[in-house]
Amino acid sequence: MTVKVLFAGRAGLWDSYETHLKTALAAAGVEAEIGPQVDPQEARYLLISVKDAPQDYAAFPRLRAVQTLSAGVEHVAGNPTLRVPLARLVDTGLTQGMVEWCTGHVLRHHLGMDAQITRNEPIWDPKVPPLAWSRKVTVLGLGALGQAVGEALAALGFEVHGWSRSPKSIAGITCHHGDEGLKSALQGAEIVVLLLPKTAATENVINAQSMAQMARGAVIINPGRGPLIDDEALIAALDEGQIGHATLDVFRAEPLPQAHPFWAHPNITVTPHIASETRPETAAQVVAENIRRSEAGEEMLHLVDAARGY
Ligand code: NAP
Repeated sequence: MTVKVLFAGRAGLWDSYETHLKTALAAAGVEAEIGPQVDPQEARYLLISVKDAPQDYAAFPRLRAVQTLSAGVEHVAGNPTLRVPLARLVDTGLTQGMVEWCTGHVLRHHLGMDAQITRNEPIWDPKVPPLAWSRKVTVLGLGALGQAVGEALAALGFEVHGWSRSPKSIAGITCHHGDEGLKSALQGAEIVVLLLPKTAATENVINAQSMAQMARGAVIINPGRGPLIDDEALIAALDEGQIGHATLDVFRAEPLPQAHPFWAHPNITVTPHIASETRPETAAQVVAENIRRSEAGEEMLHLVDAARGY
């Protein structure tokens, strides 16, 4: 039977996915008709970009499952019209990009690179940076991305702590979990990386109280989601010195509005939601495997729990 897969990714994305998806589906042994032209009435699988995701899934009466083309699912999870499994994308290419971005920004602050770049001024101020093992770095979120980032930082020698909802045991990372674990994860942390999903439970996890637990002058790096941070509390903590710098890739409103105080703050670095993205070549393998699994009656990979919201 030919499986009909409607590609409903954002405009222009099909061109970069077409060859990879067709090749990966054939390699997985799935005979498929795939593309943006597939009739919604006939579609058995729907591939979506979360920001442009359909609002009414009743428009796809034969749907068996929805697969996202990115990691965050806050725009889709919990949609009451969605009555089939929702799988989110866990992609080795996306993970690798996130590891590289986070490692780079952690090292910028760990090594004090900003101070070392003297911009042609005749300043000779030899301060040798400390070693990684003297620095507590905490990663909030130990999922596909947080674990990989934590492991990479641990491999560099950092004292890595991590925080998740459920208990975990990961070599090289001191793991904390649950509400009570947040305090010990943050206590004395000098660099904090946010890789949590946006849910009702994670909103404003970085607030005046949690920032007060970090080491004075701590650095916050947020490639997770904007609402993880209480924006006003962050600015107050930066102005007061409790937080030394914040590197922010994601925001409550994107693009970050021109009048937003983050742009002008001397101790905030803004990057335009570029920490990482799905790479079609590797993502296509996961999509094809998930369709193969579903067709074989096996559980799909990376299913979203609508009640948890991620
Ligand atoms: P994931 O695999 O679902 O992992 C989420 C992690 O957060 C898990 O460890 C989970 O704990 C933890 N968590 C969730 N709710 C929690 C809570 N209330 N308390 C404590 N821990 C909680 O997600 P992922 O693939 O690593 O991605 C993380 C986020 O990165 C995405 O949701 C997205 O927002 C963001 N992202 C950003 C970019 C970018 O370019 N900036 C790119 C991709 C993704 P458990 O392990 O116990 O479930």
